[in-house]
Amino acid sequence: MNDLDRLVEPKKADIVYETDEPVRYEVDGAVAHVIMNRPQFNNAQNSQMTYALDEAFQRAVNDDDVHVIVLRGEGKHFSAGHDIGTPGRDVAKSWDRKLLLPDHTNKPGAEFLYTREHEVYLGMCRRWRDMPKPTIAAVQGACIAGGLMLAWVCDLIVATDDAFFQDPVNRMGIPGVEYFAHGFELPPRIAKEFILLGERMSAERAYNFGMVNRLSTRDTLLADVKKMADELATRPRLGNWLTKQALNHVEELRGKRSASDAVFHMHHFAHAQSDLTSRNSLGGMDAKSMAAANKKQAGDN
Ligand code: ZN
Repeated sequence: MNDLDRLVEPKKADIVYETDEPVRYEVDGAVAHVIMNRPQFNNAQNSQMTYALDEAFQRAVNDDDVHVIVLRGEGKHFSAGHDIGTPGRDVAKSWDRKLLLPDHTNKPGAEFLYTREHEVYLGMCRRWRDMPKPTIAAVQGACIAGGLMLAWVCDLIVATDDAFFQDPVNRMGIPGVEYFAHGFELPPRIAKEFILLGERMSAERAYNFGMVNRLSTRDTLLADVKKMADELATRPRLGNWLTKQALNHVEELRGKRSASDAVFHMHHFAHAQSDLTSRNSLGGMDAKSMAAANKKQAGDN
């Protein structure tokens, strides 16, 4: 059994992309919209999407006429998380990296995922969080696990009243998703509940303790985000950049980077333990069994 079998991955040759455009890029005045575009898979993030997101963000940063960046998802849900089961799951594929990291695909054992997730999850999230323009996540429906990471790297979050947030990876024996911002986004006891039980958290509850800036509805989400973005776009460009840096710096002083470094390694210890004990780095779970467990849990509540 080779490493790829252990990870229960489709081989490179088996990857079937349903679209060449997993991310759309649109500009409305001074606002760039970066739109996740895999609605038939609830915007599950494969690497094809991750690198397309990075390219779109780079484009928005390069364009001096763009002052604000909105991140949103096409379809019913913002994002169901990382792709762990669509035909376009492309964990075994090589990419031109954006960080100074080696290719992961020829690495043995735990080094394979460790190298890959350094780049596409932890590294990308940090890179996007520090973009020099204000970012707004427009969240509807599910914002799960890898979806949370994308919403959390944005400066502001507007969510519909039917949106929910969830990190269910404790079911896989993993202490939260790769970009561990839970202890900063949520009050500590709520963060423990959020990860330990892995339940859905309503947008309203998230709003009540400040993880969400504004509540909206499906009908008004885009208009509400537009109002906020257009207002931000009237402010001095450098002022917007300095303001977000100021608050990001305070988070760094509170230890955000070192906390997420530490937990990234726990996350990979968990992947490796799963791999050693069940020959599957996701604790024996897959997209189907995770969805079934989440559905059952939501029904039980
Ligand atoms: Zn992982």
